[in-house]
Amino acid sequence: MKQLLRINMKTQTIVNEIVGQEFAHFGGRSLIAKILNQEMDAKADPLGPENKLIVCPGLFVDTVAPCSGRISVGGKSPLTKTIKESNAGGTMAKRMAALDLHGLVLEDQPQQDEWFVLVVDASGVEFLSAQPYLGMNNYQLGEELRKEMGSEISIASVGLAGERRYLNASIQFTDLDGHPSRSAARGGLGALMGSKGVKAIVFKDVKKAAWEYADKDRFAAANKAFGKALLAHPFSGQGLPALGTALLVNVTNEMGILPTHNFSKGRWEHAEETSGERIAELQAERGGKMSHICERGCLVRCSQVYNDKNGKYLTSGFEYETIGLFGANCGIRDIDAIAQLDRLCDDLGVDTMDTACALSLCMEAGLIEFGDAEGALRLGQEILDGTELGRVLGNGTEATGQHLGSTRIPTVKGQAMAAYDPRGLKGLGVTYATSPMGADHTAGNSIGDHSLDGTCKDGQVDLSRNLQVIMTVFDTLGMCIFSGMCCEEPEALGHLIDMAAGKFGGDWDVDRLMGLGVQSLILEKQFNKAAGFTEKDDRLPEFMYTEVLESVDASFDISDEELAKTLSFGAPE
Ligand code: SF4
Repeated sequence: MKQLLRINMKTQTIVNEIVGQEFAHFGGRSLIAKILNQEMDAKADPLGPENKLIVCPGLFVDTVAPCSGRISVGGKSPLTKTIKESNAGGTMAKRMAALDLHGLVLEDQPQQDEWFVLVVDASGVEFLSAQPYLGMNNYQLGEELRKEMGSEISIASVGLAGERRYLNASIQFTDLDGHPSRSAARGGLGALMGSKGVKAIVFKDVKKAAWEYADKDRFAAANKAFGKALLAHPFSGQGLPALGTALLVNVTNEMGILPTHNFSKGRWEHAEETSGERIAELQAERGGKMSHICERGCLVRCSQVYNDKNGKYLTSGFEYETIGLFGANCGIRDIDAIAQLDRLCDDLGVDTMDTACALSLCMEAGLIEFGDAEGALRLGQEILDGTELGRVLGNGTEATGQHLGSTRIPTVKGQAMAAYDPRGLKGLGVTYATSPMGADHTAGNSIGDHSLDGTCKDGQVDLSRNLQVIMTVFDTLGMCIFSGMCCEEPEALGHLIDMAAGKFGGDWDVDRLMGLGVQSLILEKQFNKAAGFTEKDDRLPEFMYTEVLESVDASFDISDEELAKTLSFGAPE
């Protein structure tokens, strides 16, 4: 019997709810949408007692489906003020499945400035005082908790950024090596966790619960075929394991959509120095590792271990978006400096994308020069030290742009765009504009689409809609988005549908599977509407419409009326 653990942080009490039939097909992202719509006033203060922090795996977590160990975190975002789901890899989701837990819901707030470490195992939840750990960042915190509780624990934690409730604070999850390198980075959910007085959630290793399947043999056969399709796909089967997501640096540069110097250009003459090819070469010399996994059951292996010049571990989960935005967009050529910035962000607990875009705004405003790696690390140190400017930067790109009086702030609904210029990739531009989450490349990224010219507007609204629906399905199943690449092939999609039938029973087809995504998107839009958002908020920043990106000879030209059609599915059921 699946359970939902409600943890009241004011009274430090637990209510253990058996999950009813109404939640049967809600998991991960859609579970967050369902709970928040049912239980929360959408206008409530994101850092106040009415907001809830929901931590939950997806619907396939208790299966052997590939890459099905994503952990979703959600609530009303302190950064965007919209509904927010952010998901990460690591080890926690499968620990929750082992305990037959459908989710944790953190409610209310401690009365005084009390801080806790929540320890979860088969006997329930223990509230430990976090006093000894306050002031620690994520790497040190993990080491201290492992000294106390053993090396087999799984940790979700906030660093100083979450303690200070920076609006750009992340929640960091430990990977298989115990490093806090997997981030639920977007939307300031670390600030929400901080507002609940929770420094860390720790799951102990427990004996696995028996996992139920409606038809285990059907699931196993479909799963095997799906895994084969995944490995046969050139991106998930070859490109990602060889070079990680950083393989996209040369790809987007070639396409003319690699944001450069705060989105003022789309090509950068130094891209090669920060490419996946360069990283693979360096790590072969330094004893690092490509083809790393961030969670058990991953077949794709896009992660890596990045060692410094002395062959010592520096960071992992070092993604294209971080490299593109600290690299080309800040003009920093030194890949080791970019890796240090990635480590700093994971340690302090802030989103790399919003931090990098904030730094590029500082460069554009003349606080430091584009390309000044030491200056960027100095500004990173200011975020860590909590200086006046550091606190502004810690609140993300939008706050930094407003502080500096910038007219070129690359955000939608207060969240920074990722390392793809939407003027040359208009399907993703539609997603940035219309996703209920704010500018989010994982919500429906058209980079892999070969059916349309990304610089032309025709067909991009439909493309974005389809991508947003299928990505929401994957976020609901709790499967990594890279395991979804092969679903462009109808045969692979058919295997996934069969897996759903094998797991849940009953008749499944494309419409029913896609319905898992549609139901979540409808609820998310409903929440945002109740929070006060309108179609006027579903658009890109003005400079994307008025400035031509020379590398693709295009500006963003999809009208507000066309954008409004993207997620118009009708009335909620
Ligand atoms: S593909 Fe990459 S991000 Fe996805 S589960 Fe595997 S290692 Fe993690």
